[in-house]
Formats: sequence, structure tokens, C-alpha cells
Amino acid sequence: MSSTRRRLTTGLFFVALFAAPAASQTNPLHGTIDELAAAINDQVVTWRRDIHANPELGMQEFRTAGLVAEHLESLGIDVQTGVGGTGVVGVLEGGRPGPVVALRADMDGLPVTELADVPFASKVTAQWQGREVGVMHACGHDNHVAILMGVASVLAEMRDNVPGTVKFLFQPAEEGPGGAEPMIADGAMENPKVDAVFALHVAPSPVGTISYREGGTLASSDGLRIVVRGTQTHGAMPWGGVDPIATSAQIINGLQTVVSRQVDLTDSPAIVTIGQIEGGNRGNIIPDTVLMIGTIRTLNPDTRTLVHERVTRMAESIAAANGAEAEVSIDLGYPVTVNDPDLTRQMVPSLRRIVGDGATLRPPATGAEDFSYFAQEAPGLFISLGVGADDPSLVHPNHSPYFYADERALPIGVRALASLAVDYLTGRPISED
Ligand SMILES: [Zn+2]
Ligand SMILES: [Zn+2]
Repeated sequence: MSSTRRRLTTGLFFVALFAAPAASQTNPLHGTIDELAAAINDQVVTWRRDIHANPELGMQEFRTAGLVAEHLESLGIDVQTGVGGTGVVGVLEGGRPGPVVALRADMDGLPVTELADVPFASKVTAQWQGREVGVMHACGHDNHVAILMGVASVLAEMRDNVPGTVKFLFQPAEEGPGGAEPMIADGAMENPKVDAVFALHVAPSPVGTISYREGGTLASSDGLRIVVRGTQTHGAMPWGGVDPIATSAQIINGLQTVVSRQVDLTDSPAIVTIGQIEGGNRGNIIPDTVLMIGTIRTLNPDTRTLVHERVTRMAESIAAANGAEAEVSIDLGYPVTVNDPDLTRQMVPSLRRIVGDGATLRPPATGAEDFSYFAQEAPGLFISLGVGADDPSLVHPNHSPYFYADERALPIGVRALASLAVDYLTGRPISED
């Protein structure tokens, strides 16, 4: 396609975004998607506000899962509840044979007391780590659930024209302890086996933008724990023991050289942070042990393995050089979220159809997501949906007590996920040539 035609097409779809839906010339189902998404939008907003006002912490999403299950059943979708805890799986058979695509939304809120000034602000409290806390959809998962419920309505309505199967994965506890892994263990990605999996996450970038990245998109997040064992002695006679405090200081510096000297940073970034250190209780006593706790983030599975090995070698070797011992344990958290490069390239035109030039490449993020587990089971694509308001005073990062989602993004999200599914299943994403 020439650049002139491309600009023209983008302009047309920009109009489609904010005005009447336009039928696509390349996939006849696009017009249907856009019309049905517009028709269900008021309902999506209502669901979103209701879910926002009634957030639930991870693995306690009983009300939300109930809403989801009831809605899917009302559409004639096959529903399984209690998957991996409070997860819900819906299976929609299209009218013709074809591949299997899965769409995922996470349902959990966070232990955050809402301060956003909206009429449907959460007043919910819950017990968390032995304390009464406010609960809020501070990461915007209320939007994800409402959008995917809307997508279910759209695709159910046009099921006769959909070749293949759509699986709806409503998962618990993304914010921890994780709901994707137990859902997979319960067979969510099998029967029928999923060929590709998509998800979106809201972000405070402007409404009308969708960002994506090939390959490592979100980091792996692993816990690091190092116990340095020396030998206790008087602080005035350090030669009488082995000082774990001086050893720990060397280890912390050494760990930073794992990242700066041993990782190919041109290939993929990495982070090693020690966020907590405990040892000793008096200035003139050298203690027996020091405990250090930290986090390791990487954006490439190979880098992750390498950093784990090198961190362990560095800590153990520095300790040994001081006559001490380091006991290193790495608590594996969420893996790297990897967007399948071929799938990403294949689906970018679908995103462009929705937001035109608002579909942009994003830098890697050092946060983590358990969508990564689904993307280990089938080629995956995880995109960011801009929900940032025009008024900058309303724009706050995810997890903020002021987090605010502009609802104009909801129909964009519905159209995006529905189009990803349909374009994948028909093998006919609009092409740019
Ligand atoms: Zn979050
Ligand atoms: Zn989130």
C-alpha cells in the first residue's frame, strides 16, 4: 500500500473510532464487530462501574466470577467455574471449524484504599495479612473484565460467522499469588488446545493508543535471599571471627557487577536489587549472620538463567574469599512475558485498524505479569490499552489510589480483543499491502 493510501485508510479508521463504525473492505466481519461493540458499550460501562465499586482481592473473586459466569451462560457459552481457584473458562464454538484462540482478563483488585473522585469509587474493605484494608481496582482489572464480557457478547452474537473456537479465560489473583498457573494446571489451555492467546492491560497512556512489543515485554520477577554466615566476635577484635557484615557489603557491590559486567545489556536489560538487609544489633559486636533480600528482573528467559547462576556464583565466591559462607536462594516468580514475534507481526494490522497511528511500539517494562504462563503454553500477545484521561490531573500510574480509567477506552478495548480473535481465526487480519 502506498503511503498516501495508508494515510487515507488511517484517517478513515480514526473516524470509525469516534463516530459511526465503518465496515472494513478487507474482512467483512469487521463491520459487524464494530456495530456490535457500539451496541453493547453502555452495558460494558455499567459492568465496569459495578465491578469497580465491588473489587475483590486475589482468589476471593467470588462475586466477579459469578457475574462473569452468569453472563457467559446467558450467551449460550459453555462455562466452567472454579478453575485454578476462582477462575472462569468459557468456550464459544463458532459456526465453522477453525483454530482455537484464547482471550484473557484478570479479575482481582488490590489492597489499596481508593482516593479517585468517581461516583462508583470503592468503599470495600477486606482482611489482608491480618489487617483490615481498603480494596480497589487500582490496576484497572475491572476494565479488563468488563471489556472481555463485552467481547463475549460481540462474538456470541456473530458466532455463526466465526470459524473456530474462542476461549474466555477470566483468571484470579494476577497481583499474587498468581492465577494463570493454577488455571493451566486445571486444563484451561487444553480441550480444546489453544493455538494463540491474547490479553490487554490498561495503562495511563492516552485514550486512543495501544502499545505492543515483540519478544520480552514484561520482566520475570524472582525473589532473592542471601544468608551470609560468618563467626561472631567482638567488634574490637574482628580477627577473632569472620565478619558477615563486611562480606555482605562486598557481595552487594559484586551483585551490581553481574548486571554491569556480565550481562549483554545491548541484548536485554536486567536488574538486581537488594531491598532489605538485616544483621547485628550493636555497634561493637560482629554478628554471626546477615540476611539480604532482593529482587531479580530480566526480560529474556536466557538472561534470567544466566543472572541466577552469576548472582549465586558471585555471592558464594565473595563469601568464600572472606572465609564466610553465602546461602543463596532464588524464589521463582512470574516468568518473562514474551510476545511471540511472528504472532505480534501478524496482528499489528488488526491493532492499526482500531487506533491507526495510535498503535505504537513500547519499551520493555520491568513489572511482571502472569499472562507469561499462558504465553508459554501457546504463542501469546499482550498489549497495553491507553486509558489516560485528557486532563493530566486525572492521570496516575497503575496501583495508585488515584488510578483513573477514561471509559472512552472501553469500546476500543472491546473492538481490539474481538478483532484480534476474529482476525486470527479467519487468518485474515487486514493487510497493509
Ligand atoms: Zn498490577
Ligand atoms: Zn494489572
